[in-house]
Amino acid sequence: MQNEASRAFRKGCRAYAGEWFERVRAMSEDGPGVTRLGYGDVELAVVNALEAEGQRLGLEVAYDKAGNCWMTLPGRDRTLPAFVSGSHADSVIWGGNYDGLAGILAPLSAVRWMVEQQVVPPRDFSVVVMRCEEQGCIGSTGWLGRVKPEDFDRRFKPGMPTLGEFMDARGVDRRAVSDGRPFRPLSEIGAFVELHIEQGPVLETSTVERIGLVSGIVGILMHRTVTVKGVRAHAGAVPYAFRHDALKAAAILVARLEAHWESLLREGKDLTYTVGVFNTPPKGAFNIIPGEVSFSVDIRSLDAGVRDAFGRIMKEEAEKIEKERGVSVEFDAPVVLEPCLSNPAVFARLERAAAELGIPVRAMPSGAGHDAAVFGAAGIPVSMIFVANQHGSHTPEEAMELDDFVLGADLIRRTALDFE
Ligand SMILES: [Zn+2]
Repeated sequence: MQNEASRAFRKGCRAYAGEWFERVRAMSEDGPGVTRLGYGDVELAVVNALEAEGQRLGLEVAYDKAGNCWMTLPGRDRTLPAFVSGSHADSVIWGGNYDGLAGILAPLSAVRWMVEQQVVPPRDFSVVVMRCEEQGCIGSTGWLGRVKPEDFDRRFKPGMPTLGEFMDARGVDRRAVSDGRPFRPLSEIGAFVELHIEQGPVLETSTVERIGLVSGIVGILMHRTVTVKGVRAHAGAVPYAFRHDALKAAAILVARLEAHWESLLREGKDLTYTVGVFNTPPKGAFNIIPGEVSFSVDIRSLDAGVRDAFGRIMKEEAEKIEKERGVSVEFDAPVVLEPCLSNPAVFARLERAAAELGIPVRAMPSGAGHDAAVFGAAGIPVSMIFVANQHGSHTPEEAMELDDFVLGADLIRRTALDFE
């Protein structure tokens, strides 16, 4: 149960992290929210401020080839692979203050407590401040040397400099982050644990579990553009039997997939299905039968088999619709990301720490991508801690209670101490 050390830690963490959250918010305030673009000036200022804090605490500070900042408290046995915890310093444009930052301040609070209490962890405990997660986990991908040439051409918004230009300005070597080689041997990292706000409503609607242990990060099958082509025609002059209405065909396909999704959920399958974009033709009008409609499909599951089965159902239903409605359905090249399950041993350690500290936790999947998934897919043992939060994320309204945050930070502190 919660002991004296835990009580003292949570109290100190609340004040310390609370101050840091406000300090970083003040540095990055923009419009109604905060903006800390990856490899931009504000992100750099935040990383530098955190680095100065690491120096003040006497940590070993080093930067890797992607500009991520590693701050290490040496452990008793320095030959053991390190316990690493961290998250990203950047945000989206007009985002919230806690997405990313919470996952840095939680382990930093734990390290600070250890320094002040003169507690030495069994192995090196590193806090890592990651860069540029919101543009596609570039900091973690760069650490692995796996940034692709096309990634450098990404832009946050049309008219802004490219990601490559942002990286050049920070002195990041494009070749080094794409050379196919990890910055350090993977075997030097014993575990990577990322704390993050949940970004969804599950924990927030629970009065018992305010902390989630992430069982895995979902895999994705996505088509940015599915195009349904029919025949454009007059709304009044063409009777039912002669119509090839692209919009009705697309709408029916979307609705049939919704029904399949519901039935898979009833079978207990882990699955999400989202149509985020649905475009009618630019020259459409109220009195024209639409000849062409496009939409996006985003399918996610912890189970690659469930994800792929739903992808096949989608294709089968599309073929049926083609025959029934006299339309064609074309899918663009899919984006496929594999699921990343939490490492069972790391997950078990987090579970045990939660039980010892009396923190009720809920095992849950992560529906969003994270740096932890990039490291996990490369073979590093990873797991994640979710903290209940309000109003989602990527929005100025995003919020989090410090009372919930300190529970997650305590879990990291305890796990780092237990990691023999
Ligand atoms: Zn994030």
